[in-house]
Amino acid sequence: MQGELAKTVLSEFLDRVSTAPASVLLLDYDGTLAPFQTERDRAYPYPQVVPILESIVQGDRTRVIIITGRPVIELKTLLGPLNNLEVWGSHGMERMLPDGSYGKTTIDKEISELLVQAEEWVIAAGLASRAEIKPGGIAIHWRGMPEAEIERVEASTREGWTGLAERPGLKLLEFEAGLELRVARPDKGDVVTAILEDSAANAPIAYLGDDLTDEDAFRVLTGRGLTVLVRPEYRETRASVWLRPPLELIGFLDQWLSCNPA
Ligand SMILES: [Mg+2]
Repeated sequence: MQGELAKTVLSEFLDRVSTAPASVLLLDYDGTLAPFQTERDRAYPYPQVVPILESIVQGDRTRVIIITGRPVIELKTLLGPLNNLEVWGSHGMERMLPDGSYGKTTIDKEISELLVQAEEWVIAAGLASRAEIKPGGIAIHWRGMPEAEIERVEASTREGWTGLAERPGLKLLEFEAGLELRVARPDKGDVVTAILEDSAANAPIAYLGDDLTDEDAFRVLTGRGLTVLVRPEYRETRASVWLRPPLELIGFLDQWLSCNPA
């Protein structure tokens, strides 16, 4: 949804935020709050985003939660001064609360062994420099690689992991610039379900995300909250509204802040 209709949906939602005693703002990280970088450890948030989120948190009426495929530890580094947010990392395997307390889901020994096999394949295939080992998964990243090289790496990874991806409890996840073999659950939809259980039934809640993995979150929130695709180009999505980063995203967050001033 774009144009006037999207504006109406957004302003009706923000009206509710301004009168509700408590609201929930759920945010994906890469591609949503931060532009993509070839060097993943340099993907810092859009500079304007940090002070706005800080003020929203200080306003004390919105629970701001980051939901990301990255491990929590990476987010802590990238968010820098913004260290009092709740973060669900590794697609929900890890959770860090604003006070710094941390919890992690354990995985089956059998699944762990399959992930070790996946890692051994990656090393043997000469892809170790492209790999990221994280709680519950292993990812191959190809952002910044030449197109022909991407095709080769993708085909080879799909083939190398085929047998593993078909095992119960594991899945192959396609994301914007790579593939990840990981535990089938939790996914971002499970995270949103857990947060909903923990929130007032009528609290305004929004989820902003860009990637295919965010579709699980959009699905869970459909009919219950505002779902926003944040992306320079539109794609087929379950989200009800589309915002282009960074300007429209910053505009939206700024309006949220005006509804919940610090
Ligand atoms: Mg993303």
